[in-house]
Amino acid sequence: MIEAPTKCGVVAVIGAPNAGKSTLVNQLVGQKVAITSSKAQTTRARMLGIALFANVQMILVDTPGIFEPRRRLDRAMVNAAWEGANSADAILLIVDPIKQRRSELEPLLEALEKRPERKILVLNKVDKTKKEPLLELAQEMSQRMDFEEVFFVSALTGDGVAEMKEALAETMPEGVWMYPEDQVSDVSERLLAAEITREQLYRQLHDELPYDSAVRPELYQHRPDGSLEIHQQILVARESQRAIVLGKGGARIKAIGEAARMELAELLGVKVHLFLHVKHADKWSEDKEMFEETGLDWVR
Ligand code: GDP
Ligand code: MG
Repeated sequence: MIEAPTKCGVVAVIGAPNAGKSTLVNQLVGQKVAITSSKAQTTRARMLGIALFANVQMILVDTPGIFEPRRRLDRAMVNAAWEGANSADAILLIVDPIKQRRSELEPLLEALEKRPERKILVLNKVDKTKKEPLLELAQEMSQRMDFEEVFFVSALTGDGVAEMKEALAETMPEGVWMYPEDQVSDVSERLLAAEITREQLYRQLHDELPYDSAVRPELYQHRPDGSLEIHQQILVARESQRAIVLGKGGARIKAIGEAARMELAELLGVKVHLFLHVKHADKWSEDKEMFEETGLDWVR
């Protein structure tokens, strides 16, 4: 029997905050590896999702959205974003046709123009977009830049994603797989667990909580009975935010912990004991150790 040679490639996923990059990466991988939310800049560090299609392994680089950096946290995120696009075999530009703003797209297009990689346009959220403006946008963008291919997908429902995945896989270069067959991401379970709590924080508190809160992994330990004991610290920048996270009589943090615990148990397939502590850590993002513990690289 002749086996087809394996293929392996790196695909950078870029786009404005909230375009649906992390949702698409999860959909391509086939399981959750990145947290998502309607809050912009949910993804902080560069992370890899690993997708398989037949004999092809695709290393998807999920990046924070690229935007104007202000604080250290912002700078680290933008840095991680471009780092993710370095020496990729293809760059996917994800666009939310409804929310796309020229001011957000233009700097991306300018930066993309200088890059040698194959560029692919992905118009996302077709599940809630009308056809006409969608086609118009596709045409306008294609005139602006030489995209090798254009895909219309819904990362949320999965519509069009399988076709896109197959087409993408075909273009990957021949080579040995960089990761074992069963590996789905490069993020440790410990960090993913903290990310899942952060996702719940955003989900349940919405705009009450500014995005500069963080979840810091403390303990991640298997008990003799096979269950998992996890301790995490929720860092908030102001004392007043502590009360918001705790809620009346601790009701809010209880609900956050419960939702995160259930999701983790399902994802990891074991019983989970999750302990959350809220800590007022003024300027945590200026503290190198805390910063790195939340999965980010410290850059000046
Ligand atoms: P990112 O910042 O680019 O990583 O965006 P996310 O993946 O976190 O998604 C941002 C928001 O858009 C979330 O609320 C997602 O549920 C939502 N979203 C992503 N893809 C789709 C889609 O295809 N259709 C719809 N209706 N919503 C989507
Ligand atoms: Mg994201």
